[in-house]
Amino acid sequence: MKVAVFHTKRYDRNYLEKANESHGLTLKYFEPRLTPNTAALAKGFEAVSVFVHDQVDAEVLNILADGGTKFIALRCAGYNNVDLHKADELGIQVVRVPAYSPYSVAEFTVGLMLSLSRYLHRAYARVREGNFSIDGFVGMELHSKTIGIIATGKIGTLVARIVSSFGSKVLAYDKYPNEECKQLGVEYVASMDEIWKRCDLISLHCPLTPETEHLINEETLEKMKPGVMIINTSRGKLIDTTAAIQGLKKGRIGALGLDVYEEEENLFYEDLSDRVLQDDLIVRLFTFPNVLITSHQAFFTDTALHNIATTTLENLTTLAKHQSCPNEVKP
Ligand code: NAD
Repeated sequence: MKVAVFHTKRYDRNYLEKANESHGLTLKYFEPRLTPNTAALAKGFEAVSVFVHDQVDAEVLNILADGGTKFIALRCAGYNNVDLHKADELGIQVVRVPAYSPYSVAEFTVGLMLSLSRYLHRAYARVREGNFSIDGFVGMELHSKTIGIIATGKIGTLVARIVSSFGSKVLAYDKYPNEECKQLGVEYVASMDEIWKRCDLISLHCPLTPETEHLINEETLEKMKPGVMIINTSRGKLIDTTAAIQGLKKGRIGALGLDVYEEEENLFYEDLSDRVLQDDLIVRLFTFPNVLITSHQAFFTDTALHNIATTTLENLTTLAKHQSCPNEVKP
């Protein structure tokens, strides 16, 4: 099988090449993202592999179908960037990697909480400049604070487990509460409003859907405790960035940790350090001392990259053999 692998960096290639030793697929790597402008590169490839920022909408799918593509293998869990209805209509099967290492994201999430609550991001820079003052770094202990977790899937549950060990009180909202969290002592609440009202720190772990888009907005921010810490390692569009900036200016948000950002597609994973950034919102976010932004790297561990590569190639081999796959995503 010939696979066009889009939006690949050196690290993706290394792990995919290693995994391919036991599959023998023909992998052709393309550095650009999949967009209407690059989709023609996949002409003649039976399979296309994509990541979180690739555009797999109706326009792109039509081009891929015309070029003979039958399978799309996502190298990630989320599939909000794929028009599943269109893919189904064109007879293109979509597979994903449902779990590659929830530990990677959960541990990183708690890392953001700790960095912000103890000013590690600022202390690092201050000490390197020879400034050994600790003025302004009076921290907040997570012990005995109330932490709200929006969605207790694989990642949210692990975050609940880790912060429970700090002695934090954990509240959670999920449509489907799970036994593991209940046994940890997590208190499930009936509505998100209760999370907004009662929590000192809120961490987002739900998928991006029409229902969850801009979950954090002007109205929900007004309901939160003044000075709340918000952490988002899920998807950028869960937060209305303009509302978050207002919340930071007014002090309603005390700290904001983002591994994902609404308009990250044209920024994250690229070295833009010699360019003038045109995105005024992210530049405004940089100006707040209590905002910590990383470039969608919560997943980025050796274990996760290994699992992503092996599952992606296994998914494609299974599809080729059986015309179906347990990791297929349907509309
Ligand atoms: P999961 O599928 O295991 O869990 C998702 C949970 O969300 C489920 O428990 C589900 O019931 C709940 N949910 C769905 N819609 C909801 C709603 N409207 N309100 C409340 N709960 C809702 O997913 P996961 O593996 O825990 O991943 C969570 C998210 O993390 C993914 O959707 C993805 O966006 C993000 N993620 C980010 C990175 C990163 O590197 N930053 C890596 C992997 C995943």
